[in-house]
Amino acid sequence: MSKFKALHEFQKPLQCLTPESFLDYVNGVIPQDHLCRLVKEIVWTLDTVSVEEKYSFLGQRTYHPKLLLSLLFYGYATGTRSSRKLEEKCLSDHNYIFLMRCYKPDHRTISDFRKNSLKEIESCFVEIVRIFQKLGFTNVGKIYIDGTKIKGSASAKRTKDREGFSNWLTKIEEEISGLLEEAEAIDDEEDKRCKSVESEELLKKKLSKRTYLKSKIKAALEVMEEENLTKLNLTDHDAHHMKAGGSKDIRPGYNCQSSVTEDGVIIAAEASTDPNDCNQLKPIIEKSRSNTQEAVKEATADSGYGNYTNYEYLEEENIEGYVPDRFFHQYKTGEYEKEKNRYHYTNFKYDSSTESYICPEGKRLEYWKTRKNKSKTRQWNHKVYKGRGCASCTKRALCTKSKERELLIDIREPLLQKMRKKLMTEEGKAKYYKRQYTIEPIFGHIKFNIGYRSFLLRGKEKVNGEFKLMSIGWNLKKLLQMKAKAA
Ligand code: SF4
Repeated sequence: MSKFKALHEFQKPLQCLTPESFLDYVNGVIPQDHLCRLVKEIVWTLDTVSVEEKYSFLGQRTYHPKLLLSLLFYGYATGTRSSRKLEEKCLSDHNYIFLMRCYKPDHRTISDFRKNSLKEIESCFVEIVRIFQKLGFTNVGKIYIDGTKIKGSASAKRTKDREGFSNWLTKIEEEISGLLEEAEAIDDEEDKRCKSVESEELLKKKLSKRTYLKSKIKAALEVMEEENLTKLNLTDHDAHHMKAGGSKDIRPGYNCQSSVTEDGVIIAAEASTDPNDCNQLKPIIEKSRSNTQEAVKEATADSGYGNYTNYEYLEEENIEGYVPDRFFHQYKTGEYEKEKNRYHYTNFKYDSSTESYICPEGKRLEYWKTRKNKSKTRQWNHKVYKGRGCASCTKRALCTKSKERELLIDIREPLLQKMRKKLMTEEGKAKYYKRQYTIEPIFGHIKFNIGYRSFLLRGKEKVNGEFKLMSIGWNLKKLLQMKAKAA
């Protein structure tokens, strides 16, 4: 058994302990390939002039933005994002002490810096993506796109429609008038006793809370009126009621979209208030292009993104897409070939020579007209084909409820069929399969390993900045791995 030193040896006062000597010690204990060293190195190379310019030359000098940025980047990379916890870490964790050079900013300083520098943090995200490009660590041509719903910093109970808010307002107003009556009674009592009653303070607090709530409800009703909204969350107006993937709960949150390269580097990250993924393909591809200044040649996404508009966009932009449609699974598994689906439109064969369709009973459906459809947000055209021999058909009851079968084919249908065929090839299958282990583990890591299941900040702009911080955290860890592999 080995010996131990006498206890008094450990009780000796540390002579000459200065921040410099302590930093020397910390520097010695942190491994050379530690993430905090990389964070420092990266932040020191970033252009932070735009953040620095926000500060005044007057008054007390505060922490340099590079120190606070490295604190946030390292915190978000390792799962600490609360400003109070970050403040505490600056005192107790060697890695944070190394980054902050023994300084300990107050939690208010950290949260104010984060809140006021979100635009600059977005530029830092782009700069970090470009560092990957400069180092040759990422192949931007091929991207994988996916989205995940992250809960907003708001309670679902506070999402209401106009009627809900009006009822709430009435209730609050009744409570306020009740409290005012109570206050009058207290005043009378005080007049009689000639001294103040303790409950007056409590009453004042209750009254001010309800008055504040009343003003917020009124403001929410005005926003709903102006923007013609059916529902709104009182705490975070931008958080949209949406269903998280795989969960039955509908909560106020954001649809967070990411585009990732083959190597697992996030090159675009945007939080949207639109729960529908279909509308996100074009914006995220364009964001990927602008962040990297490189062309996107190939894009893979799941069936949530598969619609005619997106197929048309991919075709126009000359991007090789691997994006199945909502019914691709049925197509792949041969569901439409089953007898019960005999009269499904996919079983009608197109005859290009006569521009008509042949039904499963061998009868012809001729082109009749092109129907133009328009909604508030989009416009689409259908070619209508009409069956001419349906009146005498013995299977009509199985095929249609009207006198003649009408086949409505979107004019972009060939694009959908082309995509389905491509995804059925061996190459298409392999490329689509790769999506599962390229982008999905990133969301898994962010939400389940690191535990970012909800945002801390409120409002679309701030949430977007916070999502960038989460993505920066992932990218910095990825960079560390890549550097280690390359060494
Ligand atoms: S109803 Fe018309 S389209 Fe349908 S199977 Fe009979 S002939 Fe063909």
